[in-house]
Amino acid sequence: MDKRIYYFDNNATSRVAEEVAAAMEPFFHGLYANPSSMHFFGGSLQVYLDTARQQVADLIGAKPEEIIFTSCGTESDSTAIYSALRSQPEKKHFITTQVEHPAVLSLSKSLEKQGYRVTLLPVDTEGRINLEDLKNAITSDTALVSMMWANNETGVVFPVEEAARIAHSRGVLFHTDAVQAAGKVPINLAESKIDMLSISGHKLHAPKGIGVLYVRKGIPFKPFLIGGHQEEGRRAGTENVPYIVGLGKAAELAKKHLDIENVKVRALRDRLEAGLAAAIPNTKINGKGAERLPNTLSICFEYIEGESILLMLSEKGICASSGSACTSGSLEPSHVLRAMKVPQTYAHGSIRLSLSIYNTEEEVEYVIKEFPAIVERLRAISPFADGKPLFGAEPQHKD
Ligand code: PLP
Repeated sequence: MDKRIYYFDNNATSRVAEEVAAAMEPFFHGLYANPSSMHFFGGSLQVYLDTARQQVADLIGAKPEEIIFTSCGTESDSTAIYSALRSQPEKKHFITTQVEHPAVLSLSKSLEKQGYRVTLLPVDTEGRINLEDLKNAITSDTALVSMMWANNETGVVFPVEEAARIAHSRGVLFHTDAVQAAGKVPINLAESKIDMLSISGHKLHAPKGIGVLYVRKGIPFKPFLIGGHQEEGRRAGTENVPYIVGLGKAAELAKKHLDIENVKVRALRDRLEAGLAAAIPNTKINGKGAERLPNTLSICFEYIEGESILLMLSEKGICASSGSACTSGSLEPSHVLRAMKVPQTYAHGSIRLSLSIYNTEEEVEYVIKEFPAIVERLRAISPFADGKPLFGAEPQHKD
């Protein structure tokens, strides 16, 4: 590609690390056998699967036999939730939060149609969960609590360890979608009550199409994909050896890079946040008062639309995301910003910039330099900037 890419969309997907691509390469041409085959060639692949399982286990403080390879984070989430419900058929209540990824939220809507009662825990204006709400929601009918470790839009981190202790003390299984957290914050399942945890490879510099479900040893489990005996009968389907090997390598690198993530990436994100907030009036940092992932910045610009900002950023080579969802032809702020009650005049102008260890200071300075003129241009042509209603809503002012 001719155009220089300034990539700030790592929560959407991340670039495959060179070391990961190199580790995968031999499994496409030379080592292509099916690991379940009886011959020596198939058998010779087992050791690579074992190594990858150990590498993933090491990233999250688990035992290798607690790691099941899946095709993606969405499959891991579905497997965990259906497993908990099917292994306790007498229980018909499921608890999750209003701000989950659609992998959990859309599934919970489908569960309601299947006759389950679903409780969606609210968040406050900083995107934080109140654990008293969780305590009050659990009943003797509750089969599972599923609470994301970190939010994909705002980066807000939930107290999942404490939430898992609460669920356990009431005899309820606990799952966490750690798709955005794995590799960005330390995870040690050996010292936690978390029963199941989802990971997606493409968020941590492995390819798209590979995921992990951690299942604590000894908990009841029912497979989602039924068929062959792969993964100890817990996930049917021929093992995707190159991608599993790649994810193993990515997990090893992520563990090694956790300090960089927390020092260098956090410093870059903080510089970006401070630089934009100083240069542009009427901004709002979503979740600023909460604990957040080191790499994520969700920022709103009053009176303009996120999509217009994205297009203009894109012209400058800057890749980011907006916090809007296109529903029935109208641009609605995302369910996360709505749950946080972000004022209407801000919520439509939301942008997510998400970094990785590959971002540089120079790239951050470039974004800080280009951004103010874009916002200024859009505000100059905004019909709402004089306080007129935005998308039919009454203008609300900064809280
Ligand atoms: N959960 C969270 C929090 C996510 O951010 C994502 C992807 O954006 C997913 C689940 C789904 O992961 P995958 O794309 O691997 O299915």
